[in-house]
Amino acid sequence: MNTKKRIYIGLLAASLMIILLIAILVYYLMSNKDIILSQVLLISLTVMAAILFIILLFGIISIVIIIIRARTIPSLETLGQRVNELLFPLALFTGRLFGISREKILQSYIAVNNHLVGLKELRLQGNQILILAPHCLQDAECPHKITMDINNCKGCGKCDIASLKKMAQDHNALLRVVTGGTLARKVVTDIRPRGVIAIACERDLSLGIHDMGSIPVLGVLNCRPHGPCFNTGVNLEEVEKALMSITKEDGKDA
Ligand code: SF4
Repeated sequence: MNTKKRIYIGLLAASLMIILLIAILVYYLMSNKDIILSQVLLISLTVMAAILFIILLFGIISIVIIIIRARTIPSLETLGQRVNELLFPLALFTGRLFGISREKILQSYIAVNNHLVGLKELRLQGNQILILAPHCLQDAECPHKITMDINNCKGCGKCDIASLKKMAQDHNALLRVVTGGTLARKVVTDIRPRGVIAIACERDLSLGIHDMGSIPVLGVLNCRPHGPCFNTGVNLEEVEKALMSITKEDGKDA
C-alpha cells in the first residue's frame, strides 16, 4: 500500500480507535462509579456532550429562525453555517436510514442554501459575480476549448454555453467553464468573486457549496436528458433569476 492510501486508512483506523477508547472509558467509569475521579470524569464527559448538543441544536434553530423570519441575522448566520457543515454528512447518513434518496436530500440541501443566500439580499455588481458552468454543458462534438477561454465559443447555439455567454455579457458577469471541483476551486481562488452562480448536478453542487465556505453560492441544477455528464443542459431562466437576485440594479442600495 502506498503512502497516500496508508494516510487515509490509518486515519480511518485511528477514528475507530478513538470511538473504542471513549466507549471503554465510559464503560470503565460507569462500572467504577464509587471512585471520586470516575464521578468527576463522568460528569465532565456528560457536560461536554450536553454543551456540544446544545450548540448543534442552537445552530439548527438558527437556520429555522432565519428561514421563518425571512431575513438573515448575522449573529446566527455563522453558527448556523458551521453546524450545517458539521452535520451535513450525518444528515445524509440519517436520510439513507429513512430510505430517502441521496439525490432528494442533496436537492433539499441546495434549496435551503439558495433560500439562505437569497435572504442575504446581496447587491453585487456584475463583475463581482462568477457563473461556474460544468464542462458537460458543452456539446460533446464541439472542438473549441472553452475551458481555456470562454471566448473560444463561437455561439453556434448547439448547446447552452452560447446563451450563458450572452447572459454573462449582458450582466457584465464572469463566466467560466470548469472540468471539475479542483478547477472550480482554483477559479474561485483566482477570481475571488463576491457571489457565485454554480451550475452542476446534485452531488457536485452540494460539494461545491460546502467547499466555498463564506462565499455565497446559488446552485442551479443541470438537466441530464442523455444521462450524467454528457450533453447536459440548464434552465436558462433559472440562471437569469439567480443572477438577478444577487445583482445590484439601478436604484438599489449598494
Ligand atoms: S455554443 Fe459554443 S460551446 Fe456550444 S457547441 Fe457551439 S461553439 Fe461549441
